[in-house]
Amino acid sequence: MSVAAKPLFAFDNTFVRELPGLYEPWQGAEHEAPALVVLNGALAKQLGVDVEELQSWEGVAALAGSAVPEGAEPVAQAYAGHQFGGYSPRLGDGRALLLGEVIDTRGVRQDVHLKGSGATPFSRGGDGKAAIGPMLREFAISEAMHNLGIPTARALAVVATGESVARETLLPGAVLTRIAESHLRVGTFEYTAALRDEALLRKLADYAIARHHPAAADAPNRYLALFEHVIAAQADLIARWMLVGFVHGVMNTDNMAISGQTIDYGPCAFMDRYDLETVFSSIDHGGRYAYGNQPSIAQWDLARLGEALLPLLADAQPAAVEAGMEALRGFVPRYQAAFGAGLRAKLGLGGVVVEAAGDPALDALADDLLSLLQLQQPDFTSVFRALSASLRSDESQGARALFPDDVAAFDAWAARWREALATHGVEPAAAAAAMDRVNPVYIPRNHLVEAALTAATVGDLQPFGELLEVLEQPFTERPGLEAWAQPGPAEDRPYRTFCGT
Ligand code: AMP
Ligand code: MG
Repeated sequence: MSVAAKPLFAFDNTFVRELPGLYEPWQGAEHEAPALVVLNGALAKQLGVDVEELQSWEGVAALAGSAVPEGAEPVAQAYAGHQFGGYSPRLGDGRALLLGEVIDTRGVRQDVHLKGSGATPFSRGGDGKAAIGPMLREFAISEAMHNLGIPTARALAVVATGESVARETLLPGAVLTRIAESHLRVGTFEYTAALRDEALLRKLADYAIARHHPAAADAPNRYLALFEHVIAAQADLIARWMLVGFVHGVMNTDNMAISGQTIDYGPCAFMDRYDLETVFSSIDHGGRYAYGNQPSIAQWDLARLGEALLPLLADAQPAAVEAGMEALRGFVPRYQAAFGAGLRAKLGLGGVVVEAAGDPALDALADDLLSLLQLQQPDFTSVFRALSASLRSDESQGARALFPDDVAAFDAWAARWREALATHGVEPAAAAAAMDRVNPVYIPRNHLVEAALTAATVGDLQPFGELLEVLEQPFTERPGLEAWAQPGPAEDRPYRTFCGT
């Protein structure tokens, strides 16, 4: 065995050092012949990792969880969570491990985390494993979100374990290495609060402030300020999801990150036809996590964070509850401001200065578009590129064709939109260019993701590679990729996704 000159990762593990009581030291399952399936070279470089070392036998064994790389202190993190509204006091990493933390080349502390690395003390009867399809799905979708500019955990690698995983059928097993600013969740706070150890709760909150929301440290009530910062980060994040039609699918409190990044990609998918009731997850029977419910569910999850933080918010309970409620009331205006600004940008009106109270005419224009979308349910992504194209060619056939049920209603709205651009002095060409910078041509189309994962499961990685390549530049239209910009055939609907278990 060769001895590396420097360790694979320059680990510095603050979570393990500072928060005993919130994890169990653990190791991944042994795999005899792990094999690299996909490696994110650019991300490896950003983490200061030598790509060749990562591809070596030792590197792949580390990514499989079978070998503990130098400096790693692998742990299964403890957390609780409200799943579909019901409380589970002890969830935790049932099939994941935090290997350690590294500081990336931009100076940001990042968790190196394995998913599918074997059973842990939190497995609750589960096998601790993951199949290759769901791990590649998380890889592709999280990287697509990153390329769309949306805060998210990222994917470093997927390694095939060489073993079979028993699901409905036997599937090839795999381990995903994901990178996130941390894996502190609302559920981490719920777990800690339930221990009734106020000192530990305070330590966790101080840790979260230092790592994610340092501005809260200087506030008169730093824990209330932490809560406000998480609320703001989540309001902004959910607005970003809504603006691209992303449906997370399992917005349980254990899947909501304190950092404000998107984490835990399971049965997520991008909406094609606009419909507030869009649900993809096969287990979401009630539609709790439907596209249109995401903002209110986020606020519900944040209320659980507020409850967990109560002992820190004020000395007496009534004052703490009132302070928490007041902070939580800030979610809706923050979300509406972020979503409103985002929607104006999607319509080429991003440069227009709008007062905090909003602009009644522009708000009505945006609301009326959403009503039109809900009524006629065109492909959400296509609408905005067709609108910018209509500004360039001075004919709006492409956009009009998306509203065949009532073209007149669309025409009337489009006339108002052009008028709004003119009123605000936005030249059509400038508006079109600005729109194309924020409205993707390419999103992870469900039928194409599915085809890529099916092929990868039987060993053909070509379509998956193509998928990654297309999604790397979501805003740049390229000849030959027309099929990637189209929704799937109607007979595929309703599309169903399955939890990554
Ligand atoms: P998720 O739906 O992936 O967010 O997972 C919810 C909880 O179930 C977490 O505590 C996971 O660690 C656990 N879990 C999911 N799949 C498995 C599995 N195959 N084996 C053990 N635990 C699992
Ligand atoms: Mg989870």
